[in-house]
Amino acid sequence: MIDIKLSKRQEEIIELVKEHQPITSEQLAERLSVTRAALRPDLAILTMTGILEARPKVGYLYSNNKGNSIVYDYIKEITVGEIKSSPTIVNEDTNLHEAIVQLFLDDAGTMFIENNGYITGAVSRKDFLKVALGNTDIHRVPVGIIMTRMPNIITVSDEDTAYEAARKIIEHQVDSLPVVEKVVDKDGKEHAKITGKVSKTNITKLFVKLGSS
Ligand code: ADP
Repeated sequence: MIDIKLSKRQEEIIELVKEHQPITSEQLAERLSVTRAALRPDLAILTMTGILEARPKVGYLYSNNKGNSIVYDYIKEITVGEIKSSPTIVNEDTNLHEAIVQLFLDDAGTMFIENNGYITGAVSRKDFLKVALGNTDIHRVPVGIIMTRMPNIITVSDEDTAYEAARKIIEHQVDSLPVVEKVVDKDGKEHAKITGKVSKTNITKLFVKLGSS
């Protein structure tokens, strides 16, 4: 089961519905001292996920029937493997100039860095901008020097849900996650091999697809 993270406002709505059900959106808005319009997105999420039931002319009831929500069932089914795209990967010793050119050629925002075929880091647009503000010789300095390193890289795997990927992107405030596959080398050491990426663009594309299907 996916654990849907609710906002404080959504939790408050649930408590009010539990206490006063059936309760209309006007009554909820009044108790929370907000407009009905302001509550609409929260009520939409709570009904789409099956936590609340909206009965026309009656009001909202608490049902917590997440399993029966079509939207909930649907998003639970979509995996990272289905939405991932091709990542931009360069080796640790690639110089910053070459790496930046590669970022442009691939029209990417974040690149992942590897060594011996395994992920070692990530570099974002802003990491490059930061370097550009200093006196670094971008033709000499390797990308490995400025990257964010493992084990601090947030990753996902093919079997994770698209929802989980989106949640990690928001929680860790990054634009892109490498999709990795765990591999054990001949010395028994664990590594991660990059097989794709899930970026904000992949999530937005999925959102558009859900909206148009
Ligand atoms: P930008 O810096 O262009 O806004 P991000 O928000 O993705 O892009 O990156 C913020 C910082 O997080 C950067 O320093 C970057 O190196 C690092 N970073 C990027 N992707 C990841 C990731 N998947 N896991 C951990 N750190 C990351």
